[in-house]
Amino acid sequence: MKAIRRIVRDVRPHWVGDGFPVRSLFSYQEGDEFDPFLLLDYAGPHRFAPAEAKRGVGEHPHRGFETVTIVYQGELEHRDSSGSHGTIGPGDVQWMTAASGVVHEEFHSERFARDGGTLEMVQLWVNLPAQEKMSPPRYQGIVDSQIPRVSLPDGAGTARIIAGEFQGVRGPASTFTAINAWDLQLNPNGSVSLHLPEGDTALIVVQSGTLQVNDNPLKAVELALFERSGELVILRAESASRLLVLSGEQLNEPVVGQGPFVMNTREQIREAIADYQAGRMGHL
Ligand code: MN
Repeated sequence: MKAIRRIVRDVRPHWVGDGFPVRSLFSYQEGDEFDPFLLLDYAGPHRFAPAEAKRGVGEHPHRGFETVTIVYQGELEHRDSSGSHGTIGPGDVQWMTAASGVVHEEFHSERFARDGGTLEMVQLWVNLPAQEKMSPPRYQGIVDSQIPRVSLPDGAGTARIIAGEFQGVRGPASTFTAINAWDLQLNPNGSVSLHLPEGDTALIVVQSGTLQVNDNPLKAVELALFERSGELVILRAESASRLLVLSGEQLNEPVVGQGPFVMNTREQIREAIADYQAGRMGHL
């Protein structure tokens, strides 16, 4: 059994730009217990009225890690310094490896802004191994239809496999180190046993519903971080529940971050700021 190390709850929302009302469920600035994950922002569900102007976050850089955007409701539009442009709708995942540097903007899509509606999404920051931090940037635009769904035994619910492997089914995201990312939907009274890699960092974010996690009550919006020892996590839903399950191999490397840059040393942060200011990460 994988024991729960601690539960994160009662996190107050704050706005990122004018488009993303997020709860930051963890951040590397508070320590390294989530290594290789650096940050997880959960936005919503939040209802937006129809608007003329697109809400969001304007041009900004990233270096040294990956941003993973998972949209559950609503629609985002993305534009970046490599010239790529796209929309991310319900069920879609954008796995962006900023690595040596990307400049991008993140807004509600034109259609979503015009029509209004509910936004629900996750943005996860995944650290890169030191040797990959200055690799060329890479994008994986993964649409809902590319993400395999697995029916859980005994009609307990379904799992969407974004990354890693679940019950022999592999997710489409390519990762630098071993990572599992699964979206689970459990029916009322549905129960499932998860096997998470021994020694890896593992956590669950409850987006809706109430459930027992190894006999500990957990509800929306709460996060359970597990101990690294043990493998087995037993979930038992009390009501219809949606949750995100993450596990990852620790990097165990120094983490030095400032704003949108996460590197290994102070000197590398100074370089990142200088490179961005000199336009070496590109422009929109
Ligand atoms: Mn960004």
